[in-house]
Amino acid sequence: MNTNLQDFSHKRYNILTDEWVLVSPHRSKRPWQGQEEEISKTKRNSHDPNCFLCARNVRSNGEVNPDYTDVFVFTNDFAALQKDSPSFKVDHGPIKAESETGICKVICFSPNHAESLADMKPSQIKKVISVWIQEYKNIGEQEDINYVQIFENKGAVMGCSNPHPHGQIWSQSTLPNEVIKKDKQQLKFYKKNQKTLLGDYLLQEIEVQERIIFENENFVVLVPFWAVWPFETMIIPKKQQSSIDLLSEKEQLDFAQTISVLTKAYDKLFDCSFPYSSGIHQAPTNGKNNNHWHWHMSFYPPLLRSATVKKFMVGYEMFGSPQRDITPETAAEKLKACIE
Ligand SMILES: [Zn+2]
Repeated sequence: MNTNLQDFSHKRYNILTDEWVLVSPHRSKRPWQGQEEEISKTKRNSHDPNCFLCARNVRSNGEVNPDYTDVFVFTNDFAALQKDSPSFKVDHGPIKAESETGICKVICFSPNHAESLADMKPSQIKKVISVWIQEYKNIGEQEDINYVQIFENKGAVMGCSNPHPHGQIWSQSTLPNEVIKKDKQQLKFYKKNQKTLLGDYLLQEIEVQERIIFENENFVVLVPFWAVWPFETMIIPKKQQSSIDLLSEKEQLDFAQTISVLTKAYDKLFDCSFPYSSGIHQAPTNGKNNNHWHWHMSFYPPLLRSATVKKFMVGYEMFGSPQRDITPETAAEKLKACIE
């Protein structure tokens, strides 16, 4: 690795989105006098009578949750996208709009209100993965659903209103912005090289090992070279697979183990229940040949230097481009030290 990358400001290229991130290693030494977040250390009960995701509780639309024992999925009572809204288009020069339809679901990872993925056994996480796979397949097969986004918002600092372990699945008829960028970049590379962009990148990362924090038979966890968030990571399957429905039983278990190891390391890093947004980017369900896709799961955590100091995306980041202080290599080293 060029040592200049650890000492001097530079920008790094994101091969997946065709965007740049500014890296300023010398700035991580600056003192912090800004906002500090509150952290809650109070232990939650395993069942909260006021939680609308706990088993047997009544949700705001009057429905009663079943007495579920592992994973529970339902259609979001306040969905951002609806299946039956009318189709329309507005096109008056600069004023353009199109109707968008879709389905939004909520997935409870566990009936235990006090848990997070980091507390769950790989065998429990595997059940979550198999529901992700079922939903990706079933929703994706529907007409007018061309993309399925699986994600989780964890922690009040990420705007998550409910601490119950849960994620969401939003699906829609068109491709969202981030997916359009990645689709384009991966297709361009695949057409030219007949192999996937991420597969090619992974070979280089495995060779240098600098940003890899964990590896098992089928998966690698690394801090991407172009990471924006201080402790951003990516889980990448070693084998080229366009979507998660292609995972074998063994691969699902290895994926579950990888999520378990990573979320535990995150909690250990700043000794707190680590907040993040995570999501899986995979092939659109548009019926086209999507062999250029190499699916991956990204974690974007907002914390910068402790449980209470958060990274803000403001100023230059709003008007210029994203910027980070601590280098991805230093972040990888710190996370690797937290792997059990
Ligand atoms: Zn709950």
